[in-house]
Amino acid sequence: MNAPTISSKKQEGAQLQPTAAAAKAREPMNVLIVGVGGQGVIMVSKALASLAQSKGFEVKQSEVHGMAKRGGSVFSHVRFGPQVWSPTIPKGEADILVALEWAEGLRWLSYLKPDTGIFICDTKRIVPPFACLNRRPGAPLRYSRETPAEVKAHVAEGYAIDATDMAEKLGNERAANVVLIGALSTALAFSADDWEKSLAEFVPKKTIAVNLEAFRLGRSWIEEARTLTPEAEAPAARTPVPAEMNYSVRLEITPDWCKSCDICVKLCPERCLRLNEERVVELAQPEKCTGCRLCELLCPDFAIRVHLDIVNVQGIAAAAAGSRA
Ligand code: SF4
Ligand code: SF4
Repeated sequence: MNAPTISSKKQEGAQLQPTAAAAKAREPMNVLIVGVGGQGVIMVSKALASLAQSKGFEVKQSEVHGMAKRGGSVFSHVRFGPQVWSPTIPKGEADILVALEWAEGLRWLSYLKPDTGIFICDTKRIVPPFACLNRRPGAPLRYSRETPAEVKAHVAEGYAIDATDMAEKLGNERAANVVLIGALSTALAFSADDWEKSLAEFVPKKTIAVNLEAFRLGRSWIEEARTLTPEAEAPAARTPVPAEMNYSVRLEITPDWCKSCDICVKLCPERCLRLNEERVVELAQPEKCTGCRLCELLCPDFAIRVHLDIVNVQGIAAAAAGSRA
């Protein structure tokens, strides 16, 4: 299991307070869920709203996703309690902020309650096109440079989870959002059984088993995170390719995950991708591919992975670099 990269600013080892207790009071519980198109923000929001409603709470949910193209910003407000008047969470009033993408999480931090807000964030980075202007392999990206340690200074309680990597190890990285639901579930007073029932209604039937595993993994990760010493690590950064290295590029495409959005085709600097007759992406001109990884970073559906198989100047295969950041 991955170690946490942010732990609580409050007393170490303390129980994460079941903040749903606040929902028993007059004030609604405010949960803000953010990410980018294609990550499953709305599913997280619906599973929570449905669960809260089934327990008799009044629920208001609002979301912005219609204008967001794949890869664009998506957010959803969920408020529940004995009575809820407004569907939107005012700035500084979110009890919990769940972010499926690192930079999106940082962008919404001002919505958290300063003294008690809980920040749960995937370290997954989906880099927007304007941040990838330098396409040299290993070149720095114009992307958030804040480290988890720096973020920790701004939140009452924070957890940065490599949920995508955890889900990938379970065999389906698209279940990363459910890893985060597992983490979220520990901050609310609903039982694990109730969460699992709600989840089973919202994930595709054939993925129920892996999603339940992802949910349990997210829960247990938080339990472990509470017992560990805080660490100040940056989100995992991909190893840059040293300039003196030669490397060969290999694209791994998962056809089932490609949604034909065309983003990678349009933005590949070398124009070496295309959609085939089934409207699935393929590498049409492999000799032109520089291994810049733009397609991998931009694909909201994790359908492309770029492997840089490094060969040093003596021609000895040195390492297979280039796994996902
Ligand atoms: S592989 Fe390309 S076309 Fe397919 S979903 Fe990803 S970005 Fe869109
Ligand atoms: S296919 Fe991907 S890695 Fe290759 S040049 Fe295009 S964007 Fe870069």
